[in-house]
Amino acid sequence: MPEQHETSIRRPATKIIATLGPASWTPSAIRDLALAGTSAFRLNFSHGDVEILRGVVNCIRQVSQELGTPIAILGDLAGPKLRVGVVPGGGTITLEDGQEVLLDPSSREVVRGRLGVSHYSVVKDVPDGSRILLDDGNFELKSLKRDGDCLRAVVVHGGELSSRKGINIPGVMLSIPAITEKDEADLAFGMQVGVDFFAMSFVRTARDVVDLKRRIALHGRHTPVVAKIETPIAVENLSSILDVSDGIMVARGDLGVEIGPERLPVVQKEIIRAARSRGKLVITATQMLDSMTHNPHPTRAEATDVANALFDGTDAVMLSQETAVGLYPVITVNTMREIAWNAEQSDLFVAQARLFQRPQDHGIAHAAIKAACVAAEEVEAKAILAFSSTGWTAYGVAAWRPHCPVFALTDDPSAFNRFALCRGARAFLIPSARDIAHLYALGLAATVKAGALVKDDVVVLLSGARSHGAGANTIRIYKVGARDDRNAGSNAGGDAL
Ligand code: PEP
Repeated sequence: MPEQHETSIRRPATKIIATLGPASWTPSAIRDLALAGTSAFRLNFSHGDVEILRGVVNCIRQVSQELGTPIAILGDLAGPKLRVGVVPGGGTITLEDGQEVLLDPSSREVVRGRLGVSHYSVVKDVPDGSRILLDDGNFELKSLKRDGDCLRAVVVHGGELSSRKGINIPGVMLSIPAITEKDEADLAFGMQVGVDFFAMSFVRTARDVVDLKRRIALHGRHTPVVAKIETPIAVENLSSILDVSDGIMVARGDLGVEIGPERLPVVQKEIIRAARSRGKLVITATQMLDSMTHNPHPTRAEATDVANALFDGTDAVMLSQETAVGLYPVITVNTMREIAWNAEQSDLFVAQARLFQRPQDHGIAHAAIKAACVAAEEVEAKAILAFSSTGWTAYGVAAWRPHCPVFALTDDPSAFNRFALCRGARAFLIPSARDIAHLYALGLAATVKAGALVKDDVVVLLSGARSHGAGANTIRIYKVGARDDRNAGSNAGGDAL
């Protein structure tokens, strides 16, 4: 069992995800990023060779073991992203305003007047008069009419177009499978190396998520799925997508292109609020500290944006190109961590958190979680100890935003890794218990040994009885080191401590 390792940094409750790439996938950079406060690494399957990624996964596992702290790995499936083809010989071609072009799915090349595109659905599904955005909205075309097996379009805003740029067609439901052949291969790879979460790009309906979960189950696992909300259709279907997803990501890169930056701030708040009301993990992503890709300091607007995502109620914030290809990956994580820490210390933040809507749910586990949080507040508990074999009890507690820290305890190494993204939670990997009294004893022993609790601390223990099935159903309130611990059969939590 690795020693728990506490570094001297001030860790915010909000979790930080860093995307790995050429600037950061060396063992020393991964270690430094973890020490700086990164809780999870994103592997972006849109980029990166499988052999490199395999080495990266091994390295993350080693660093996690060495630091005695969970680090989650989020495998991000590229999904049905449309792209233009390749400009022969590299370089660019000029798209002039008013010029007509053909979008041609049979071609892989981009030449003057004819742009190869990656899927026939561009011709089949796009109504006349639709906006077609290239390169994150830097270019705009308008569809005119179908022309044989191509789509004729006019350039509204042109420029110099280079190879493989993304295509967004806002509001159009393209008939492309949600899971591409590449996704299938990346899924199999992710399963093989044991990623802790999958992110699913360009989710349109709940059915897309259910389909991915079915394929994950065929591999004999239940790896959680984070649905990336990045199209107006996904925003429309948010409620049903939340029903079937384990978490969602406000993927502001593509979402900002599709709905326009003007609507993004409000839509971000709506998405986060909807996720919070279901108690689902929510990640806010993209361009959070974008200028730090090239500079060692953020802009004032970026610092404010990170803090505002916390005020909106996000569980985690994600860095993309800042850590994948940027010049200052570790400085960027340090900056994000300090912005988050400072925001969380403010009275304003604490007051705001009290106003968050608590998860609206029913059932035994929900009632037990709610009762544990209310009890913790009542007795001014030092912590809530959430015992969880799947990891979800701890997430349920975190979603309630209790006033005290959550200690997430499990004997399952996979759940331990999943705890890494649980807001405000500190994770403990404990041995398997014989019965509930032994479980509590092990939990108290581990948390006291790590210095997280001392004698006379009052804690709320929350667990599920296995005979009862999944989920929490049992609450105990303990004073560390009091006789009551012995009554429960505990030695480790009793006077002997
Ligand atoms: C996004 O679009 O904001 C996003 C997170 O997805 P990707 O980085 O894959 O474009």
